[in-house]
Amino acid sequence: MTFTGPYSLDAARQLLRTPSDSRGELYAAADALRAARMGAEVHIRGIIEYSNICANDCLYCGIRRSNANVRRYRLDADEIMDVVRRMPSWQQGTVVLQSGETTSPEHDAWLGELVRRIKAETRLAVTLSVGNRPRDVYAFWRDCGMDRYLLRFECSDRALFERLHPDCTLDARLQCLRWLRELEVQVGSGFMIGLPGESDDTLADNILLCRELALDMIGIGPFIPHPDTPMDGQRNRFHDDPEMFFVALAVLRLFNPRAHIPATTAFDAVFPGTGRDLALQRGANVFMPNNTPGRVRRDYLLYPGKPCVDEESGQCAACVLARLGAIGRRVGSGPGHSVGLRSPLAGRGVSR
Ligand code: SAH
Repeated sequence: MTFTGPYSLDAARQLLRTPSDSRGELYAAADALRAARMGAEVHIRGIIEYSNICANDCLYCGIRRSNANVRRYRLDADEIMDVVRRMPSWQQGTVVLQSGETTSPEHDAWLGELVRRIKAETRLAVTLSVGNRPRDVYAFWRDCGMDRYLLRFECSDRALFERLHPDCTLDARLQCLRWLRELEVQVGSGFMIGLPGESDDTLADNILLCRELALDMIGIGPFIPHPDTPMDGQRNRFHDDPEMFFVALAVLRLFNPRAHIPATTAFDAVFPGTGRDLALQRGANVFMPNNTPGRVRRDYLLYPGKPCVDEESGQCAACVLARLGAIGRRVGSGPGHSVGLRSPLAGRGVSR
């Protein structure tokens, strides 16, 4: 089997069908490409899940509006800043602020002010991940100092997207990604792997859409059914072959040589203690330790089996350094910005 791009939809389909006894070769090709284009450095982006208050009812998500079992919280700015100030000493160059979705102008203003504070008091890059917002809100946050934005398109099959997201359309989400690119914010997106109703073609198309969007960062991870959602009991379609999560990751790398690809937390939920390390050896080059204060971690359960819910920010920061050392990788220095994918958001965009 040879691994030379550029690849087509057909090539993606074929690579995703790599039989078990050839997957080692596929992983090695993805790892070699990661090493050649992104180097040995692993950038560490600490994530703070600062609020689980959410106006949306995405069918798969544990913090969806209708889940009455969730104790809702929003951290105040001082508590967030206490964590943020310690991040440089943990060798973390980026803070990712993530939350549920709200349309409140008061929240938008508060978040912009928080970004300003972080930029004034530290040299950290700031990524926000708080869902669909109007263009002028993104522009305001950019003016406050936001460097990057993370918004997964989740699933490129329009009908399936709309079944899963009663409050949102795929077009609206792609429009948000386009605005962010126009505003010259570094753009991250991605998808869940193995959603019920997804086909092999959807998965191949998800990977192609990432390339068409010329993303700076691509986060993907297995779908994990949450018991307090309507998807309780629906198995991931790769339940009996979870290695497929790594196959998807490796193929994603082959199609997107210069994107930052995190080893996402959900890999550890499926492969406890090893998932993220394996992801780093099969195409990924970014690690996102959980910096959320321990007292609220159990309230941000997007899916069951999320690791480290009994730990504190500093513990995850130390653990990631040990994990990288064990697989012979260096910690990235500096903010780990995009390696130069600055082309306009191309291809299917909103007219798709
Ligand atoms: N409100 C923000 C943050 C969402 S949480 C936004 O919409 O962008 C971050 C990611 O967690 C989501 O994009 C989704 O891909 C993932 N996620 C949510 N529920 C999940 C589940 N049950 N299994 C796997 N991943 C899930």
